Amino acid sequence: MSQHWFPKTPTLPVNAPLVDQQPPEARTQRRRLRACHECDWVSALPPLKSGEKASCPRCSHVLVKRNRYPAQRSMALAVASLIALLLAASYPFVSFSYSGVSNRIELSETASTLIAFHQPVVAIGVIMTIVVLPAVYLIGIVWLQFGLLRNDPLPFSRSTARSLSHLTPWMMADVFIVGALVSLIKVAGLADIELGLSFWAFCTFAILLLMTVQSIDADWMWFALEGEPLAPEGTQTGMSAAAQQLTSCPTCGLINRLSPDGKQYCLRCREKLHPRLPHSVQRTWALLAAATVMYIPANVYPIMTTTSLGNSSPSTIVGGIVELMQGGSWPIAGVIFVASIIVPVGKLFALAWLCSVANRSHALNAQTRTTLYRITEFIGRWSMVDVFVVAILVALIRADSLMTINPGPAALAFGSVVVLTMLAAMSFDPRLLWDAPIKKYPGRNAARKEVIDGK
Ligand SMILES: [Zn+2]
Ligand SMILES: [Zn+2]
Repeated sequence: MSQHWFPKTPTLPVNAPLVDQQPPEARTQRRRLRACHECDWVSALPPLKSGEKASCPRCSHVLVKRNRYPAQRSMALAVASLIALLLAASYPFVSFSYSGVSNRIELSETASTLIAFHQPVVAIGVIMTIVVLPAVYLIGIVWLQFGLLRNDPLPFSRSTARSLSHLTPWMMADVFIVGALVSLIKVAGLADIELGLSFWAFCTFAILLLMTVQSIDADWMWFALEGEPLAPEGTQTGMSAAAQQLTSCPTCGLINRLSPDGKQYCLRCREKLHPRLPHSVQRTWALLAAATVMYIPANVYPIMTTTSLGNSSPSTIVGGIVELMQGGSWPIAGVIFVASIIVPVGKLFALAWLCSVANRSHALNAQTRTTLYRITEFIGRWSMVDVFVVAILVALIRADSLMTINPGPAALAFGSVVVLTMLAAMSFDPRLLWDAPIKKYPGRNAARKEVIDGK
């Protein structure tokens, strides 16, 4: 097997500049190869103009998206998002007044108030997902793009670029906005609500953050940072990478040859490589089982307790939805019902089903199953809405003996259901759906077979 060993260092173009500002297509003569992250199909990237994207011919997963002025664009958006976040953190978020008692909260109080009620884990979860992780991400983007723009990457650019790709699913500013709207509509009938400057700044921040994430042209960024090492010799398009002892890097997309001992890092970005995620189905089952167990206390215990004029009324997730419906707030009840019941339960069933059919999947139904997996992965974070509603209401509704809202134990249990199902979706490897022995793959989507060696 020794002839399959890859060189220790990437073979970069001779006299390659420190940062290549050109799109990769302008500099490499060879067509660059990619293996799809969702179905493992090897295909050759076409030359892309800005605004164009290349999708996998087998499962239509987007392989590369080419942006116009990628560095300038991400830099501008990241700086604007950071300014909006700074504004959101420095002004009052929202205030309410009820029978002459008023309360005004800042953004950080949505987390810090929870600590006073012995819910430090939920508090950390809230502040991490809405402020800390997005801020770290944005600073990382500024750091990277600043180096690329001055044609000399700053130190740790490679590890920063690698780490940032893992942060994206955990940033939930957009979900928090939905949570804020739900909680404000919920109390609008009871008390006077006034939105502060921070609320609008945070909305702007959430939109700019989404745009920043969208603006990242990872293919160009990795080419600019590290060039593109040659594809392993003899790599063929139109078949799966694993069948050729190859694997695609999950972070930078480069095709690497698998080493026999199994311990391997990407030549270009040093990400750990696996032909398939290790013990993918078992891990997903274990995480699903844990999430199912946690879903019981999440529904049995109250998620919050409203105390009004000495009367305490605890409400569970389902109880809260029923109360909203009785009060006529059908749209809000609908949002909470979808986010807290339909999404987590649907996700548990969908992933359990995918795990049980992973080994029995074949080319005819793999596309539908991959689509189900994509939906499952995409919607998971939206379940956090109810946890954010609790965080906001607990901080906001503090009118001493008149009316207060305290968090219940279900908030932590439900938050852990969301995190566990997200981890379960991440640990499931959709390539397993395409792995079963596939008969000759005919049809319109079959990619042309061609040998492209690394020379
Ligand atoms: Zn694919
Ligand atoms: Zn890589």
